[in-house]
Amino acid sequence: MSDLWQVYAVKYAERNARTRADSFIFDDHPAAAHGMDYFVWVLQNGSRTIVLDTGYGMDEAKRRDRPILRDPAQAVAALGISAETVDTVIITHLHYDHAGGLDLFPSATFHMQVAEMAYATGPCMCHDTLQMPFTADHVCEMVRHVYSGRVVFHDGSGQVAPGVRVHCVGGHSRGLQVVEVDTETGPLCLASDATHYYENFLQKKPFPIVADVQNMLDGYGTLMQLGKTAARIIPGHDPLVTQYFPQFDQIDFAWRLDKGPLAKADILKI
Ligand SMILES: [Zn+2]
Ligand SMILES: [Zn+2]
Repeated sequence: MSDLWQVYAVKYAERNARTRADSFIFDDHPAAAHGMDYFVWVLQNGSRTIVLDTGYGMDEAKRRDRPILRDPAQAVAALGISAETVDTVIITHLHYDHAGGLDLFPSATFHMQVAEMAYATGPCMCHDTLQMPFTADHVCEMVRHVYSGRVVFHDGSGQVAPGVRVHCVGGHSRGLQVVEVDTETGPLCLASDATHYYENFLQKKPFPIVADVQNMLDGYGTLMQLGKTAARIIPGHDPLVTQYFPQFDQIDFAWRLDKGPLAKADILKI
């Protein structure tokens, strides 16, 4: 078993009826269109598969009127992965689009941060604005998994497997964690919603769904420490990822991340 991992981004939804005001607290062109892609990520090392986040399924799509292109379990099946048998899932945070598919992974142990469970079940959820990105059923489902022994909590930095480390950055959600993965080309930082877009962290422009702006801005610095260069930091929702990285194996909704971006990708020009 190798401690070096192959890493894939798998897209399951997109939402284009939104503007730059939905992506940046301060922006010169707030009414301009700004699309968003939704991903889960897959780590493989030859003998082991780890899935990062679970997306959301048809029920949640209907509830929020945010249709999906494909069920996240079907999406990872295209890579030859049976969601039913995956034993390790990292949950970056409990927002509906990351923890909405817990039931798709019935054999999994879920890795999450102590601070995220405290936030999602604590007094901040008395505020409509703060609870908006959460769905109570997903949070309750995770609480039940705690009681049945299927949750591993990390408090800050921790190791999920050799070569796979998590780090709590907070900001967007109180216990948001990012994932640092060792690959043949060096460590890769899967940022999830620590930076939705390249522009958030490169231009230090906070995303409007935020629990703590200072932690979000500090988190942009943490990403650079972990990834070293922008090319090794993967934003959670940026459609540019699908242009910058090579498509994987003729699957038009999967991209391979660990070999680095395509030569034509000019990430720092953002
Ligand atoms: Zn989020
Ligand atoms: Zn998200």
